[in-house]
Amino acid sequence: MTPYFIVQFLAMKETKFVFVTGGVCSSLGKGIVASSTAAILKSAGVKVAIMKLDPYLNVDPGTMSPFQHGEVFVLDDGAETDLDLGHYERFIDTPLQKSCSVTTGRIYSEVLAEEREGKYLGGTIQVVPHITQKIQEKVELAAKKMDVDVLVVEIGGTVGDIEGEPFLEVLRQMKRKHGENLVSMHLTLLPWLQASGELKTKPTQISVRTLRMAGIQPDFIFARADVKIPKKILKKIAFFCDVEEDCVIPSETVSSIYEVPLRYEKFGLGETLARKLHLEQLKCNLDDWSDLVDKIKRTKKTISIGLAGKYNELDDAYLSVIEAIKAAGFHHGWKTEIEWIDTEKIEENDAEELQKLESVAGVVVPGGFGNRGIEGKIRVAQYCREQKKPYLGLCLGSQIMAIEFARNILNIKDATSEEFDEEKKSKNHVIHFIPEQRNIRKKGGTMRLGAYPAILKKGTKARKIYGAEEISERHRHRFEFNNAYREEFEANGFRISGISPDHELVEIVEIEDHPFMIASQFHPEFLSRPLRPHPLFREFIRAIIEK
Ligand code: GLN
Repeated sequence: MTPYFIVQFLAMKETKFVFVTGGVCSSLGKGIVASSTAAILKSAGVKVAIMKLDPYLNVDPGTMSPFQHGEVFVLDDGAETDLDLGHYERFIDTPLQKSCSVTTGRIYSEVLAEEREGKYLGGTIQVVPHITQKIQEKVELAAKKMDVDVLVVEIGGTVGDIEGEPFLEVLRQMKRKHGENLVSMHLTLLPWLQASGELKTKPTQISVRTLRMAGIQPDFIFARADVKIPKKILKKIAFFCDVEEDCVIPSETVSSIYEVPLRYEKFGLGETLARKLHLEQLKCNLDDWSDLVDKIKRTKKTISIGLAGKYNELDDAYLSVIEAIKAAGFHHGWKTEIEWIDTEKIEENDAEELQKLESVAGVVVPGGFGNRGIEGKIRVAQYCREQKKPYLGLCLGSQIMAIEFARNILNIKDATSEEFDEEKKSKNHVIHFIPEQRNIRKKGGTMRLGAYPAILKKGTKARKIYGAEEISERHRHRFEFNNAYREEFEANGFRISGISPDHELVEIVEIEDHPFMIASQFHPEFLSRPLRPHPLFREFIRAIIEK
């Protein structure tokens, strides 16, 4: 029998924490540092998850404009999160949970609600200790819920930001509490001065000084630069910032973000982390990643994919879609180039835009809300159907496909979605509001969010593509296919190939007489991974290259 105290000791096995902060300026890639660190740990069999602490005041990113903030990434449990969670999942291929995304807005709203309930017994509520205590609870809760050995925690924003201060204070307090079970990483920028031909370390020194003023001494410094960083600069940073030499990690700009874990590991990050966090020696194996990067570097052939979205040229607004397209391309040994198709211009018959539509090898109509550019999207779908050009519809893209089919094949000329017909002029809402009772997880919002199962019908392309009867995919929508029209659609070559287990909701549709015209009511892009491209994207690209 195991002695009681050993059982106790094992039960007390503490979670380790890796905090990631950023200095000097934003957009240096803290999310990639956090993700790459976690990927290295995971490759050695360490159970790891990543969480994001966002200093902004929105309660969650669900209502934030993709113009400002990029895409809203949806998790299995329906949490609407920052796009960084997408990077995390792509790098560690582990489904994260709502607890992994926390904003200042959520923290304050919970503390204030508790105050109203009288929880603080009339005491004065302050940032320290009450807000910081709540943040700490959230970090510890995420570690517990994800049940991990190591939790990587990314603090959003840049050191020195006013709104980020409570989070740095939490890092200080947690370091005090967890001691050697917590390390902090700080990412900074080394600007290159053309005139003197050198990389400067002063902004890094000042950034670390700012961290120290918050009571934090970083254990690792990640130095980002657009050029190769000489050893003596790394040594200089170690000396001035009081960090061990092998803990200054060069983070030079690379052509693919998936090369970053390899670069860090080459520099010995896995080993250094094991030493600093007192983990057993790590046997990291990043072979999959190096195969992927080799593939990316070797591909010479390029195909162009039309993306008929709303936020044109804004890669971040469609980050997961673009990553899913790229991953599928690499899988087949092809590079993919995104050609933005402005559907408002298609509506105006703009010759250049129509030419673009003609020249792309396939088209993706991604998710979206509101009626801007909708008629143009319907024309894009019509073009793809008639010209047999591969078409992949994602959420809104599936609704567009149904409307186009209704109008041009079923001759229902006023067919539309309830979403685009506020004045209720049309009698034919082939897409309509999801009846309330089906909004199982509805809380506050009215969207159907998160992972739900779907059943794929025998003999359909979807079933063949997935090679499975039951699948689970992530959703984010308010409208759905109107079942009153099912029979008429199916009788005319529009197959409903995936439905919810209760047969009520249409999940995947496909055009029978077409090389690849398939669309889903869910968002497959959220489950695509660089090492495991999503089957719908993979087969969409295959249909293009084998055409
Ligand atoms: N606007 C559509 C709906 O709410 C599509 C949503 C989406 O594409 N995510 O159903």
